[in-house]
Amino acid sequence: MNENTAAADPLIASARRDEICRIFGESYDPARWNDWRWQMRHRFIKPEQFEKLLRLTTSERRGLAMTHEKFAVAITPHFAELIDPDDPNCPIRRQVVPREEELLVGPGDMTDPCGEDHDEVVPGLVHRYPDRVLLLALDTCAAYCRYCTRSRLVSQGELDPLPRRLDAVIAYLEAHTEVRDVLLSGGDPLLMSEDRLDEVLGRIRAIPHIEFVRIGSRVPSFLPQRITPELVAVLRKHRVWLSLHFCHAREVTPDVANACDLLADGGIPLGSQTVLLKGVNDDVQTLKDLFHALLKVRVRPYYLYQCDPVVGTGHLRTSVAKGIELISGLRGHTTGYAVPTYVIDAPGGGGKVPIQAETIVSYENGQALLRNWAGRTYSYVDPAEHA
Ligand SMILES: *Cc1c(COP(=O)(O)O)cnc(C)c1O
Ligand code: SF4
Repeated sequence: MNENTAAADPLIASARRDEICRIFGESYDPARWNDWRWQMRHRFIKPEQFEKLLRLTTSERRGLAMTHEKFAVAITPHFAELIDPDDPNCPIRRQVVPREEELLVGPGDMTDPCGEDHDEVVPGLVHRYPDRVLLLALDTCAAYCRYCTRSRLVSQGELDPLPRRLDAVIAYLEAHTEVRDVLLSGGDPLLMSEDRLDEVLGRIRAIPHIEFVRIGSRVPSFLPQRITPELVAVLRKHRVWLSLHFCHAREVTPDVANACDLLADGGIPLGSQTVLLKGVNDDVQTLKDLFHALLKVRVRPYYLYQCDPVVGTGHLRTSVAKGIELISGLRGHTTGYAVPTYVIDAPGGGGKVPIQAETIVSYENGQALLRNWAGRTYSYVDPAEHA
């Protein structure tokens, strides 16, 4: 059930795809499968569809029955194919199939852990750092991550469509000449049509002081079929950078690799964000495999996030100590490009705080004692005038 078997044996791959299509009363047809709108129309949403896709556990069955009112459930056929139907601990499955534990509220859990609502200046526009803003483009995603930091908004139908908010957003950006960087995120901006995206990006790009525009998207992982030459042309036209979202190497399938190739060949710089999740990617080898797989398709790991304390995510979170241990096991042990910055988005609106193990043992009298990746110490002496 991984990309290697799929690549090595197209017959096995299409057999599973056929099973998936039959749940919707259709047979596997590669042209339909590769059409992103077909994928969106055939998402797994209802408990009875999941019963046919997976051998559900009691916790998952209860989760499917009870959590959708709080936070939508949806999985694309593409992503569903990656789930091991017999393994409840499958790392792909844990990301997207709800469990009963989602109903639990732990100490410190919040509905808006990053305090975004507090820094909202115009509906859907968050201005926290002096020079950059976050624009929530829409409130739908191709599939729903059970740990989503914006589950209070995403899938809830509370955010007005962007065309209705866009004039106010543009007016704010025009008035705030200190803003040079706009991050469109969501919900998933790449679910907009090419025409809509072209219009939104064009209006942002027309503001002279906006010099950097990026889009955060999990579409390449959930719905690689969406990455079409037409979409790439719009992104290239507006000189957009992309921040993708991947949590496990198994997500980097041949179809995903093709989508990344199309983007990289189209001149779109690609970064990636990963959320550290218990039972999904919380060991060094799993993270290494993921980051190496991403480098191979020209995606640069950017951030590794400590999972935000969103209500109902306790079963998916690790300790901070675990995160420090993991990032220490990567830095220096593999290609520097394969090591993202480990950050905690400080609860309550503090912004991203980078975390690493202590590498400066002491720094006194112009002498810094450093600990390297292998645990040995070295000293660096400052030039004379600073001693
Ligand atoms: C993450 C984030 C940004 C962008 O931060 P970078 O460190 O530049 O990637 C901007 N605004 C908000 C509110 C954010 O959460
Ligand atoms: S893709 Fe992003 S916004 Fe959408 S559900 Fe996942 S984490 Fe939330």
